[in-house]
Amino acid sequence: MNRESKILVVEDEPVLRFLTAKQLSQLGLVSEAAHDGFQAISMTRQNTYDLILMDIGLPGIDGIKVAEQIRKDELAEGKNRTTIVALTAYAKEEQCREVGMDDFMLKPLMLDGLKQILCKWNVLV
Ligand SMILES: [Mg+2]
Repeated sequence: MNRESKILVVEDEPVLRFLTAKQLSQLGLVSEAAHDGFQAISMTRQNTYDLILMDIGLPGIDGIKVAEQIRKDELAEGKNRTTIVALTAYAKEEQCREVGMDDFMLKPLMLDGLKQILCKWNVLV
């Protein structure tokens, strides 16, 4: 929607983190990355993102628990609800929705699919 839209990519695999950032950049979007759930929670407490791409399989604390914590923080702090899109190689859609995630995509991410999701959630036009 605007040049200042900022995406948080939560992904523990360095190559996927790099490729996703590159895809977002190709779409004209700025992104930041977290390599695990603890970093993601800390970053969302300190910054505002337009959308979060959340890997589910993360070391330490999985993406579902991270999303749950982000929703708790938003409520506690009266912050706007950030769109969270789960990234997963296997179907965990129901669990993702139960904790308040908005959408989900199967990995590997393709540029077209990513673009569609970002348009759907008004981050891109
Ligand atoms: Mg992973």
